[in-house]
Amino acid sequence: MITVSNIHKTFGNNNVLRGIDLTIQNGQVVVILGPSGSGKTTFLRCLNALEMPEQGSIAFDGVAPLYIDFAAKPSKKDILTLRRKSGMVFQNYNLFPHKTALENIIEGPVFVQKKDLALAKQEAKALLKKVGLEDKADLYPFQLSGGQQQRVGIARALAIQPELMLFDEPTSALDPELVQDVLNTMKSLANEGRTMVVVTHEIKFALDVADVVVVMDNGEIVEQGSPQQLFSTPQHERTKRFLHQIR
Ligand code: ADP
Repeated sequence: MITVSNIHKTFGNNNVLRGIDLTIQNGQVVVILGPSGSGKTTFLRCLNALEMPEQGSIAFDGVAPLYIDFAAKPSKKDILTLRRKSGMVFQNYNLFPHKTALENIIEGPVFVQKKDLALAKQEAKALLKKVGLEDKADLYPFQLSGGQQQRVGIARALAIQPELMLFDEPTSALDPELVQDVLNTMKSLANEGRTMVVVTHEIKFALDVADVVVVMDNGEIVEQGSPQQLFSTPQHERTKRFLHQIR
């Protein structure tokens, strides 16, 4: 289980996150919805310390527990541990353009985790197969479609064997016909029991795959619940307004 408490993040005078609490059970898929600018991406980035909150904590229990109190200036070692526990998939894939698909995937394991090169390559090939790109190992990002690049991005995030997968609007840069392949890859990860937090506008994905849907507005969680409950009987005015806008 992962427990996130009281996350606050400010950019200048902009109070972007105003005390976010979230509990994520092992194997759960949490989908975060909310209007643009509500703080969804910032919150996701706080979960692996790509942004440093001024306040709040994150706790992983299990065999290798970790507790980080952001207000207490966490050590570099703890931040690195947090980053190894959480694999991020970015909106714009963030692949290295001068590296092949395979080289992108082995980067973290070999250069950060110091894994044996042959083993890392073998695992990367298995990951490429998992995301349906076993024949694309030696191609460069520019030779791949957006959907294929994003699936390399997913394989790269998986390569560090994270406990938690974070997806930041993973399909929003894709042409519509390429969205489904990426969503299907994410769905199969969810079916394997992976713990995932997904920021997305894909309501059908939320309905089909999420265990919990969280609605954010103005730096706060306004409502959370099962997708059936949240979409059919939203409780809060701000949730109703948001759902009305996107339907
Ligand atoms: P969402 O993902 O819900 O669209 P974001 O988390 O991207 O929202 O942004 C929330 C607010 O934080 C916005 O007002 C945005 O301008 C601001 N913001 C995000 N990142 C930065 C940054 N690096 N510097 C300054 N302001 C930022």
